[in-house]
Amino acid sequence: MRREEFKFNKPLEKCLICQGQLQTSFTSQNGVLCLEGFHYSYCSNCDFYMINPQPAEDSLSCFYNDDEKPLKEQTIKDVYADYTSNGLTYKKVVSLKQRFSESIKTNRRLKYLDFGCGPGLMLYHHKDNWDCYGVDISDAACQNGKMLGLKIANSLDKLSDHKFDVITLFDVIEHLPDPVSFFSMIKEKLNEEGIIFLRLPVINGFLFDRRHPRKWKWVYAPYHLTIFSVRAIKNIAKKSRLKCSIIMDEDMWISPEIIVAKYKEKNLILAKILRRLAKYFPSFVWFFRLFFTSDTIFVELRK
Ligand SMILES: [Zn+2]
Repeated sequence: MRREEFKFNKPLEKCLICQGQLQTSFTSQNGVLCLEGFHYSYCSNCDFYMINPQPAEDSLSCFYNDDEKPLKEQTIKDVYADYTSNGLTYKKVVSLKQRFSESIKTNRRLKYLDFGCGPGLMLYHHKDNWDCYGVDISDAACQNGKMLGLKIANSLDKLSDHKFDVITLFDVIEHLPDPVSFFSMIKEKLNEEGIIFLRLPVINGFLFDRRHPRKWKWVYAPYHLTIFSVRAIKNIAKKSRLKCSIIMDEDMWISPEIIVAKYKEKNLILAKILRRLAKYFPSFVWFFRLFFTSDTIFVELRK
């Protein structure tokens, strides 16, 4: 689909998270997984960008199931049908599994929901020990998952009315038109002792250049309807009354802003040194921008 084929909702007048004033920011340019011509607004209170106006829901649904070939060899449909295996390595799956097992001590069988599960890699690796459920907007991904014997549907209503002990949202929330409503919905689906686990790109890493936001590798219009920062995540958690802890990706540890965000309260000397280096030696930043970061973080949310 090209931008001209999208239908749009009414323009947003307020920030999706804090209801604050919006500033006009930038317009997307053509790139890998990014279509040109989508306008982004910015909220300085949340340090948060959002496509404005947003594409209508039926346009987005067509877009994710599109059969055209805008990418090298793959269609959009193929990318999302096979997404999880591209997007999340086996190593990460295993390390997350360990983290969950350590965090939730119980002998009973856990109920697990992977929202935005693609064809179900995470579910597949947990299915012998946990009761696994997946939701994905891509019909092809749902079909692929079902062939592996997984319980996957394109909406949560069609799947289960259970509450869950573990909910993962990997590379999901930036795709959603209304993240605040989504979090209040998903919180209702979480058991009292449960964990929500997010993975998402944020603008606090080295790759994002505030003078040229459109050049960021994760703009991905209109897949990414919103662009988060650490502050935006914290604001949304506060608004949803969820406790939030930021966990750095192994690719992200070197970013001074993330280290500062994580250790601010502890006032770590390492964070201070890195912040100074980044401020006074921009070439140091560029060196790491080129080689060492993917600008993604993990976030743990609890009730
Ligand atoms: Zn805001």
